[in-house]
Amino acid sequence: MRTNLGQTPVQPAEHAAIESLNWLIEYWPDLLEARLPLATRRPWQTPTLSPEAQEQRDAEARLDRYFRNPLALGESAAPLDVAVLQTALDLIVQADDLAASLAEAAMCPALPSPGLSVTDARPWLAYARARLLDLGEEWQDWAAPHIHRMYEQAAKQLSMLYTGQTIKVLCPWCRGATSAAPAGGTYTWQIVEMPGKPPQIAIRCAGICEPPQKEVGTWWGGQPCWPIWDWDRLARRARDLQVDELSTGVR
Ligand SMILES: [Zn+2]
Repeated sequence: MRTNLGQTPVQPAEHAAIESLNWLIEYWPDLLEARLPLATRRPWQTPTLSPEAQEQRDAEARLDRYFRNPLALGESAAPLDVAVLQTALDLIVQADDLAASLAEAAMCPALPSPGLSVTDARPWLAYARARLLDLGEEWQDWAAPHIHRMYEQAAKQLSMLYTGQTIKVLCPWCRGATSAAPAGGTYTWQIVEMPGKPPQIAIRCAGICEPPQKEVGTWWGGQPCWPIWDWDRLARRARDLQVDELSTGVR
């Protein structure tokens, strides 16, 4: 007899290949614009530009110039921008190869290959995802290792850009309490690279922090961490908790 009557049925997880494609599509703008992943859609975005933000905006402007003229790579010596651009271009080529292979497998008209000036891989990623959903599990298994390497490459680039960066938001669980500042108010969220294969980019709270177990992505060194794929949910929770406090007057 079933014992889980009345419980919400568990959603079947997407195949890893589809999950990774979703991730790549979601994070593409962040990778491309060399900005903190999802920062512009976050409630903690600060309207005034800190020196770091100014620097980042300048970097974006430089990157933008590259994109208008893809042959002018030599103009700037900024190694960061070139690394981002090279990763992006490499991933576009791979996305195009993948889309072409899957078009053939599914006997569908292929997408035209991206031209030299194309810097958005998402049409080819989305095309590959649609074909994989049609083709089913066998092809998803076939594509998974390739797509996983693309994911690793993008995640690695993001972690090289952001490891060590502090996020200017108060942790909704510990309110920024640390042993040095037990009353709270410290920005305790930092981007870290968690060891692993591949290394995972995550937000770690360095505060005296014990969120309810179901809110925590994982623990590392006794501190709660949220891997990058969990950041959407994390941001929603942080926002909800802040809204709750405003409406109930809890401080
Ligand atoms: Zn915390």
